[in-house]
Amino acid sequence: MKSFKTESKRVLDLMINSIYTHKEIFLRELISNCSDAIDKLYYKSLKENIGLSRDDFEIKIKADKKARTLTISDNGIGMTAEELEKNLGTIAKSGSLAFKNENEKQEDINIIGQFGVGFYSVFMVAEKVEVLSKAYGEDKANLWVSSGAEGYDIKPATKETCGTDIVVYLKPDTDDENYSEYLEYYKLRELIKRYSDYIRYPIKIEKEVPVKSANTKEGEPNKIETEFEWETINSMIPLWRKSKNEITDEEYNKFYKDMFYDFDDPFLHLHISAEGVVDYKALLYIPKKCPEAYFSKYFERGLKLYSNGVLIMDKCKDLIPEYFGFVQGLVDCELSLNISRETVQHDRQLQKIASSIEKQIRKELQDMLQNDRDKYIEFYKAFGLQLKVGVYNNWGMDKDKLQDLIMFYSVKQDKLVTFKDYVSSMAEGQKYIYYATGNSILSIKKMPQTEKVLNSGYDVLCMTENVDEFAIKYVANYDGKEFKNVTDSGTGIENSTEEVADEDKPIVEFIKNALAGEVFDVKLSKKLGEHAVCLSTEGEISLEMEKVFNNMPKTGNDATHEIKAKKILEINPTHKIYEKIKKLYADNQDGLKEFAEVLLDEAKLLEGLEIEDMGKFVSLSTKYMAE
Ligand code: ADP
Repeated sequence: MKSFKTESKRVLDLMINSIYTHKEIFLRELISNCSDAIDKLYYKSLKENIGLSRDDFEIKIKADKKARTLTISDNGIGMTAEELEKNLGTIAKSGSLAFKNENEKQEDINIIGQFGVGFYSVFMVAEKVEVLSKAYGEDKANLWVSSGAEGYDIKPATKETCGTDIVVYLKPDTDDENYSEYLEYYKLRELIKRYSDYIRYPIKIEKEVPVKSANTKEGEPNKIETEFEWETINSMIPLWRKSKNEITDEEYNKFYKDMFYDFDDPFLHLHISAEGVVDYKALLYIPKKCPEAYFSKYFERGLKLYSNGVLIMDKCKDLIPEYFGFVQGLVDCELSLNISRETVQHDRQLQKIASSIEKQIRKELQDMLQNDRDKYIEFYKAFGLQLKVGVYNNWGMDKDKLQDLIMFYSVKQDKLVTFKDYVSSMAEGQKYIYYATGNSILSIKKMPQTEKVLNSGYDVLCMTENVDEFAIKYVANYDGKEFKNVTDSGTGIENSTEEVADEDKPIVEFIKNALAGEVFDVKLSKKLGEHAVCLSTEGEISLEMEKVFNNMPKTGNDATHEIKAKKILEINPTHKIYEKIKKLYADNQDGLKEFAEVLLDEAKLLEGLEIEDMGKFVSLSTKYMAE
């Protein structure tokens, strides 16, 4: 007996011991593999002129109550012994597994629900599985057998036609689980209807029908016997090929949940039937929530690509831009049959489809923003970050497409606003679009610099996520108005530095020298309201950017860690603290040196920056409090 690869073993264990409540999805998974296998053969036939027709294919499910087996058969491409080994001895796509490893605590519900784990899900209901398969064009068949985690065997076998028969030996029933129901006609019918209705090939199950017995004698009452006949259960018309007004929202939602393994209804669907420059049909969905793995390396964006109804690629990433990577769905079009994973990127027709899809999604969002603000905000709360990352990525290449879709919280208006909203309510004479960065809206509202700008009658946009300010740097200006961080020294708001009284000048100069190396400049500013001090910056690097750079993982001699903002310490000369400064300057200049350090550390804390020597800060501030 051969053992499973370690990683497959882990998934197997998960399946065998699963408490998952939707065990029935094993059938959907097996049927979907059959359909893929048939697609592969049909596609090969079209390409190589083998001459098979769509009508030649079928998927059959046969229940044997005595043996407690369910046999799922297809006449698709089949597998050679090597393929059985490769495909069923290891997990082909281990994305779900890798994800599981990193999140060991996740319930199995999550992993099964989020990814769909394919063939192995059969072990949720089976104590033994046999796969008899004969690859197209081969004359030998093989039998793969496994009773679970111990391992599997592959041996030569006989099978007349190409394709695969999977024999599922159901587990014995328990108090909690009634596995026998998978042998019932009505259960199978319900599951096929529910999960596999759109499969393009007939899915047949055996139905018992009463017939008049041949031994019924003349004149006697009819003897009734039962016979089995194959009945096709699925409607076979893919949802996306139906016209919109024939489809209910429930159908759209159900299709989404089955196809993309989500428990929730989607946030919205978009059914496109394009004719003209490009011909294609697309069924797109925006989920309610962003997938947990979205920003990890395990997330794979892409739309399913069908050519004439045959699935040719599961995740075609060239059909959807990175910034709309959360969109799920499929595209069906007529492609040249020579297309492959490698050439798809260069295919002009696909490029046109991709660009048309991008525009339609953008238009849908744009319309929602205009006509149903509440709904848009719901969307934005789930995917705003993705859009902002989209503005930032590729050196701002896509900013023009996205800048009207992003929103920030406005302090004055107390809600999320677009740049357009901000600009249209700008005060007379206002030159800049002001923004502030911080960990939360609350902390931004409390910043002295924010207060300063608000006091001048201008609104401030709150940027609370790491990517925000970087994205803004690429947008640079909106409607001709430049963006300005409220901590920037050149905010254009009167900063009474010019009027520093002669008597104050040596004091400011003294503090500047005391903090040399730490700050670039020291200024007096009367617009700080209640606050004693604050930090501002000069030049391109803001405090927030310094923070983000410093929080990046350190990688050897990475220059980004040398990045420091040019800091300016602003002191409020109308604050009581200034009296103390003046007194120290007159009586105790060593004391003023220490005191200046305390003030600088306070200003840093207000900005959420780290201070170097916390112990020193605490002891010095306590010392001056006690005085
Ligand atoms: P997935 O279908 O997501 O790739 P599975 O675990 O369901 O993962 O199946 C693994 C592989 O086994 C498939 O990719 C396919 O190559 C092969 N396979 C499974 N079922 C069949 C089948 N009925 N006919 C041919 N190949 C199959």
